[in-house]
Amino acid sequence: MELKTYEVKVWVSDIVIQEIFQEGRNKLPNETGGVLVGYKTSDTEFVVTKIIGPGPKAIHRRSSFLPDQEFHEAEIAKVYLDSGCCETYIGDWHTHPYSTAYLSGQDRSTLRKIAKYKRARISTPIMLVAAPPQLVFKIWTYRNKRKCASLFDEIFETHINVYR
Ligand SMILES: [Zn+2]
Repeated sequence: MELKTYEVKVWVSDIVIQEIFQEGRNKLPNETGGVLVGYKTSDTEFVVTKIIGPGPKAIHRRSSFLPDQEFHEAEIAKVYLDSGCCETYIGDWHTHPYSTAYLSGQDRSTLRKIAKYKRARISTPIMLVAAPPQLVFKIWTYRNKRKCASLFDEIFETHINVYR
């Protein structure tokens, strides 16, 4: 039996969106990406305040992107302290050049891994996918439905609100 999906809302600053598309266009025709920084206001609401870019050691290819994890861990620690321990890692972002903002099979498995990865410290991560050069993006989230008497976990699209 299918359970009703959660209604998850994500607030994203317009500066974040501009930065993602600027970086995305700069790296065309290759992929790029990074980390989403912000906080959760409830179990079903996120606020994205900043992004962290790919990092100097990231690898950009036409249909794959490998982030610079060491750079990300250091930057996340910095943001966390600078924000008075309010803002932290809440998910990832990456681009699909000349394509759509839907998740690939690989993306889905990455999102599941992040949710289960203790060091990421978030069991309900979000993943933003942008499709430059088009100004199209979607944000996805993961929920483990095992607690809700279903055998399957679930990945689905969130509602996006852009703020200034
Ligand atoms: Zn992808």
